[in-house]
Amino acid sequence: MRVAASCEVLSPFMFVSDLRHFLDMPEDAPGPARKMAEHLGFIVRAATTAKTGAVWETALPCRRRPGNRPCPGHMVVFRADLPSTIDWRCSACGGEGVISGWEGSYFDLRRPRSQPVESAVNELPVTDEVCATLRDLRLLDADCERLVFAARASTTGIVLLTSEEDLDELIGYVAAEANHETNRRRQKRLDLAFAALSDALEAMGS
Ligand SMILES: [Zn+2]
Repeated sequence: MRVAASCEVLSPFMFVSDLRHFLDMPEDAPGPARKMAEHLGFIVRAATTAKTGAVWETALPCRRRPGNRPCPGHMVVFRADLPSTIDWRCSACGGEGVISGWEGSYFDLRRPRSQPVESAVNELPVTDEVCATLRDLRLLDADCERLVFAARASTTGIVLLTSEEDLDELIGYVAAEANHETNRRRQKRLDLAFAALSDALEAMGS
């Protein structure tokens, strides 16, 4: 199978992948391959929200299940300048890998050089569930995508780094998707995220 052939296993935990092999996955690709493609896409999005040369812990949960239990770790990422590879490892279980071939892909969230990084940011604690709901949004613009995927794991939990203005915009996207969602479960998750973020925005303004 094409997907399996694109991943080279160097050690039991080292997963080497060229993202290009995951981009055009056929509709009938098996579930695990699609899950892996989604996971790698998330890692690339997170890693490209930050500058090169920094090691940081993202909000992305580990997918592994050592001893049949979900690993509690998060993905720690490092993006090198040259060669432009993204290293990732789990903060808990030792799973690790390296991704190449991500530049210019749909997942590449690097900011255009001309665009200044805004300064006034607040650290906003969010739950893993809210963070997962935000990653699942389908209609985000690039700025809001950066805000979602720049979420990091801290000693106290997951935090979003956001200005009031950006948070307000993100809430608008959550509300729009909640309004159009026909799946009751997903709508409920979107409503919960909307409520949590709206409360946080209100607290920020006061
Ligand atoms: Zn892990």
